[in-house]
Amino acid sequence: MKINQNFDNLVPNYLFAEVAKRTNAYIEANPDKKVIKLGIGDVTLPLAPVVVEALKKGADELGKKETFKGYPDYEGYEFVRKAVSDYYRKFDVSIDKDEIFISDGAKSDTGNIGDIFGTDNVVLVTDPVYPVYVDSNIMAGRKIVYAQSNEENGFCAMPDDNVHADIIYLCSPNNPTGSAYSKEQLKVWIDYALKNNAIILYDCAYEAFITDGSPRSIFAVEGSRNCAIEFCSLSKTAGFTGTRCGYTVIPKELERDGHNIYKLWYRREATKFNGVSYPVQCAAAAVFSDEGLKQIKANLDYYKENAKIITAAMDELGIYYTGGKNSPYVWLKCPNNMGSWEFFDYLLENAQVVGTPGEGFGECGKGYFRLTSFGDRDNTIEAVERIKKLLSN
Ligand code: PLP
Repeated sequence: MKINQNFDNLVPNYLFAEVAKRTNAYIEANPDKKVIKLGIGDVTLPLAPVVVEALKKGADELGKKETFKGYPDYEGYEFVRKAVSDYYRKFDVSIDKDEIFISDGAKSDTGNIGDIFGTDNVVLVTDPVYPVYVDSNIMAGRKIVYAQSNEENGFCAMPDDNVHADIIYLCSPNNPTGSAYSKEQLKVWIDYALKNNAIILYDCAYEAFITDGSPRSIFAVEGSRNCAIEFCSLSKTAGFTGTRCGYTVIPKELERDGHNIYKLWYRREATKFNGVSYPVQCAAAAVFSDEGLKQIKANLDYYKENAKIITAAMDELGIYYTGGKNSPYVWLKCPNNMGSWEFFDYLLENAQVVGTPGEGFGECGKGYFRLTSFGDRDNTIEAVERIKKLLSN
């Protein structure tokens, strides 16, 4: 037998393992020093009370004969899809509940969507990049081209008319750079996709962090229904990283190569996925209730305030950065032309603060660094004070 030889083409991703290795070695050698971690991409605040109530109620229903549920619908229960559709309406985007798939998260769906596309398609990703888009396409054997995000374009890569792509991954607000596309920029991508007969795979896992009126959905932009699929997640919106739920939107009219994309994805899901558990779907619906939205806002505001604390320090230090405003991530240029790993070590040794070296996300991340606002408030304040003290000398 043969394994999928494409796996040999994967570049080992040592990023978080190497961060952990260097951090643990430092802690072991300096047990008296308090190390603060601002590198994590995981939330730290607990689920909102209405969400926990819904989880418990869903579990109770499973424990009674009259309310027991077996396999859920492949595309998710109607009550959750309706709740998501109503949520979109709050920011003036009209999505029918029958265009929504409830998933176990955006990672699975952005990684699995390739099942419905041929392997000879050219894939475009922006660099730096959330690694799932790259690795899942390497596994499938697709050719990948890169659009550069850099200081010149404010880390919002734009298309090059001389480059052809069939599948385009966009992530806005972006992980890792925190930058968010404007409506005008998304329109340029949509026009490019339509011209190339391509499909945009739009990951808006961080849409709840948008504060400046940038689009929360690609479907807020004209032309998108003929070229886009959208992936979202409750992980960062509502602290579901461990609970697991997201949603994928496919416009009913989206067609390519004589096929309806919604129907293809339905067939794929029906074959390989048996849905999200009932209590989790109850919890997801609770997130979108009036009380749920109020309660999750408190957590989002907490992270946003942390981001403000970090960006205020960067402003004070005169350090170039993107993100923080529409995103839990602050992406900064390493001072004094230091490399990403060089700055990582410098910050760990001299301020006992841990971040994420930008080069772990791609070539264009070299010389940049990611800090996150998912930490505890007091620790964020202390870390920022230490960074200011170190870098203002
Ligand atoms: N998409 C992006 C851009 C992310 O940064 C992450 C998580 O860090 C995910 C998707 C994963 O989302 P989920 O937890 O819903 O799988």
